[in-house]
Amino acid sequence: MAISPLMPVYPRCEVAPVRGEGCYLYDAAGKEWLDFASGIAVNLLGHGHPHLTAAIQKQAATLMHVSNLYGSPQQQSVAERLVALTFADTVFFTNSGAEAVECAVKTARAYHYATGNPQKYRLITFSNAFHGRTLATISATDQEKLRKGFEPLPDWFHVVPFDDLAAAEAAIDDSVAGFLVEPIQGEGGVRPASAAFLKGLRDLADRHGLMLVLDEVQCGVSRTGTLFAHEQYGVTPDIMAIAKGIGGGFPVGACLATEKAATGMVAGTHGSTYGGNPLAMAAVNAVLDVAATPEFLAQVREKGDRLRAALEQMIPNHALFDHVRGMGLMLGLKLNGDSRAFVSLARKFGLLLVAAGDNVVRILPPLVIEEHHIRECVEKLSATAAAFDDREAA
Ligand SMILES: *Cc1c(COP(=O)(O)O)cnc(C)c1O
Repeated sequence: MAISPLMPVYPRCEVAPVRGEGCYLYDAAGKEWLDFASGIAVNLLGHGHPHLTAAIQKQAATLMHVSNLYGSPQQQSVAERLVALTFADTVFFTNSGAEAVECAVKTARAYHYATGNPQKYRLITFSNAFHGRTLATISATDQEKLRKGFEPLPDWFHVVPFDDLAAAEAAIDDSVAGFLVEPIQGEGGVRPASAAFLKGLRDLADRHGLMLVLDEVQCGVSRTGTLFAHEQYGVTPDIMAIAKGIGGGFPVGACLATEKAATGMVAGTHGSTYGGNPLAMAAVNAVLDVAATPEFLAQVREKGDRLRAALEQMIPNHALFDHVRGMGLMLGLKLNGDSRAFVSLARKFGLLLVAAGDNVVRILPPLVIEEHHIRECVEKLSATAAAFDDREAA
């Protein structure tokens, strides 16, 4: 048999971690990597954080799972906590980001159905978006590499250029239910939307009775220095999908909505076997205990500024580096060269990063990094750049 037991959908690299500690990962032979990828913006508190680990251990021994057919005081209290911290009035818990986006899309459509406009089923989305790998979420992007081999896909989304308000406005017709957008595109290349664009979408949504749905799966949960990125734009969504950092490594996501936006989400319209189980809720509670305080958020902003300044200082030393973009500790280093090859070479220098579109290297460290981690990252980036140039020259 030629196929591997593990379905070969990932071109897996040589790094095979078996243990994590703080901002570092180790393989079976003890080789160490500085983890500035964080499992793609997931391990917010680094690896083996004592508060998160203890909360999960304790809950696992007490009650791991019960069906959503029963009452869940654990889910109730985390929902209340998220409602108190955000624009939202109500929360649905999922197991992943794509499921959170699915729930967000269903919520937007159900609103129009319930308010007498069942013809409004389509969401306007944006070029190079990434919303997940389910059939609905790959339909929401124009990225060929995600869609290829799975077409025909449904016409539930209308993709227009990112950060182009006029194009978004021109796409509005009677079939449109709202907008679905990442405030900062992650996979697409760490591209923050302009404030004028996000504010403009809010304004269009208000004028046309549409839903503004934000995908904060990657940029949300303290990563940018505010609990959610939209806070820095002064824009409030009707519906928001989150995941990644919210469990700190435990698989959990959520769809948050205002009371009005959730009008159609009545009993029987949605569900999930695992969604919001007590173990997931223990993880979310522990993450929020640490990462949702004003002091922690201030530190993320401070570390983000320091990391950014350190990267900017390094840029003139290497023709390979073009510029830094992003917000807080969600940073992108734009290269004049292939970002995938660079990320692969950085691994040899003991540094984990994530490639993104537009030849950008994503720098997504745990939010608990210290000054010495920033120095180490910059040293390793410089060493990688020098080796990259040599490689090109060879
Ligand atoms: C990762 C990601 C998703 C999908 O999350 P999964 O947990 O992989 O399903 C959706 N939207 C954005 C912006 C993401 O970065």
